[in-house]
Amino acid sequence: MTGDGQAALPVIPVMKPLLGEEEAAAVAEVVKSGWVAQGPRVAEFEKAFAAAVGAAEGVAVSNCTTGLHLMLHLLGIGPGDEVVVPSFSFIATANCVRYVGATPVFADVLASNGNLDPESVASVITERTKAVLAVHQGGQPADIPALREVAGDIPVLEDAACAAGSTLHGAPVGTGALLAAWSFHPRKLVTTGEGGMVTTDDPEWAARLRRLREHGMSISAAERHASGGVKLEQYLETAFNYRMTDMQAAMGLVQLQRLPGMVAHRRELAARYDELLSPLGARPVRDPEFGTSNFQSYWVELPEDAPPAVQVLQSMAEAGISGRRGIMAAHLEPAYEGHPHIPLPVTEHLTRRTVILPLHHELTEADQHRVVDAFAAAVRVPSGVTS
Ligand SMILES: *Cc1c(COP(=O)(O)O)cnc(C)c1O
Repeated sequence: MTGDGQAALPVIPVMKPLLGEEEAAAVAEVVKSGWVAQGPRVAEFEKAFAAAVGAAEGVAVSNCTTGLHLMLHLLGIGPGDEVVVPSFSFIATANCVRYVGATPVFADVLASNGNLDPESVASVITERTKAVLAVHQGGQPADIPALREVAGDIPVLEDAACAAGSTLHGAPVGTGALLAAWSFHPRKLVTTGEGGMVTTDDPEWAARLRRLREHGMSISAAERHASGGVKLEQYLETAFNYRMTDMQAAMGLVQLQRLPGMVAHRRELAARYDELLSPLGARPVRDPEFGTSNFQSYWVELPEDAPPAVQVLQSMAEAGISGRRGIMAAHLEPAYEGHPHIPLPVTEHLTRRTVILPLHHELTEADQHRVVDAFAAAVRVPSGVTS
């Protein structure tokens, strides 16, 4: 499919949140209740989300980035400490280490799924390493048991921003996690506009996280209000305001019910892309043998002889297809210029030679053919092979 009439076709976006009347009604109900800040809906959303990802406790926060910050703060990680992270991630993964004054140490990733390579992690661990922060990149489950094995006594934390609904060894990602941080940004499956959560099985950690997100207060504003009587709060430690609102949580509760259906649908769409892409010599991301992806991001490695990714994206954009460059690499950004790191060949290859294809609930079979035709033309494979 080339040329004729293509300008008339609507642009296919890379992602689109699935939002309906139910979300609007749930938020409106909170507004009418008069209690719009952190309150009963947040508490309810915490319970429901933690249960969905197999954790005992959920602590809602303003976004995943603040959740990551709290996890490191909770563990007392600070100046002089090192935290091993993939450079191959959204920049917040590395930045949160700098927030506590510690040093992010980049390890390389596996070409198959873009997640931390245990061997590379082992090679950068020193006596200053205080944590390994693994990412479930694009919803692809990271092999947490393998990372724990190389980390030994060092805690393995999880940036699960993209991974709600993915599974690892037969259980939801998050099950058995020491500490995992989640995102509800509209680019992820479950959205609350902005929002995040930290999950853990440790009730004492959860209690401290609740305090840390709310100015270090001994009693939350919601509890004080609900108690009716006069209750004076104390400020037990210097902390943060990283709260979620009840409006967001009400939306999250509706979104959470949609999650299993969203994951199933995304997996069907990913399977169709797989099929359509197979004749093109482009390698799509696939489930590892130890888990299943929610396909938050569906990325494809370009064929070797294809033009640079920017050029591929440009040609696709001209055909009305909005793709994205591959996952970014933090060490290539100006914010990390001069930051020492080991060679990161796989990270650099994936970030330069992969593109993310559109995947969302409104994508039709015809749209997928359009995407793959545009992709095929862009990588200079003769067009028409998919139709
Ligand atoms: C989206 C994302 C974040 C940041 O999430 P926010 O909720 O926007 O703060 C962090 N890490 C990864 C891997 C992400 O994809």
